[in-house]
Amino acid sequence: MPNLLFALTKLGIGPAEIDLVILTHIHLDHAGGVGSALRHMPRARVLAHNQALKHLADPAKLWQASVKTLGDLALQYGDVEPVPEDRLVAADDLMAIDLGAGQNLEVHLTPGHAAHHLSLFDRRDGILIAGEAAGVCIDGAVRVATPPPFRLEETLSSIDRLIPLEPETICYAHFGAYGGAVGRLRLARSKLLSWYKIVGAASREGRTPEEILGLLRQNDADLDYLDSLDRYTYGREHDMLINTINGLGQSARQDG
Ligand SMILES: [Zn+2]
Repeated sequence: MPNLLFALTKLGIGPAEIDLVILTHIHLDHAGGVGSALRHMPRARVLAHNQALKHLADPAKLWQASVKTLGDLALQYGDVEPVPEDRLVAADDLMAIDLGAGQNLEVHLTPGHAAHHLSLFDRRDGILIAGEAAGVCIDGAVRVATPPPFRLEETLSSIDRLIPLEPETICYAHFGAYGGAVGRLRLARSKLLSWYKIVGAASREGRTPEEILGLLRQNDADLDYLDSLDRYTYGREHDMLINTINGLGQSARQDG
């Protein structure tokens, strides 16, 4: 919350001016603070996938699922405050959000990273706000982000519907904006397939997630970014990668 409010101040925007908070999905690191944020944003409503709204209004289930997937990391996020129902807005596929001055944000449902994940496209400026549909990018290095329950086909078809939009710029929820968006979407696709293959084979052989992370590091030099992280960030990234491996492994075992 302090980071968010500070960033808004730097942009010269007061929290009281915010009309709409758009959630790409409702994992805790994206939506856990939204109920608290609204206390600083008296005018704001919250837009999310229509299947996600009930969890924002009553976060008990979301919280239980997060503790199950994230363990101690979930506890670090702290309590999740509910969003009042009259401040929730349902996002539909291909909905256009009017930003004024002839500019729209289009909603594109992109399940995979999460069942309720959506991406946003600004057609006028060619900017894709991809959430985690194209993975995570740390200092330019891209990694897969597939916590359980993960479905390969859904994730691939989500990427496949973003590529024809021909975005120029891609904004990763984690972290930053980059040019060459179509190439980055293709990279996310091929990386997902190669990780899926490696993790699937290794998990069928009974390798542990930790061993599989070692295998991925041998096959994907992008993971060298792990060596330059501070201890806290490394711990977080390591846990997220183990989650990603668990998601890929479970999915690969189900697919046989
Ligand atoms: Zn997420």
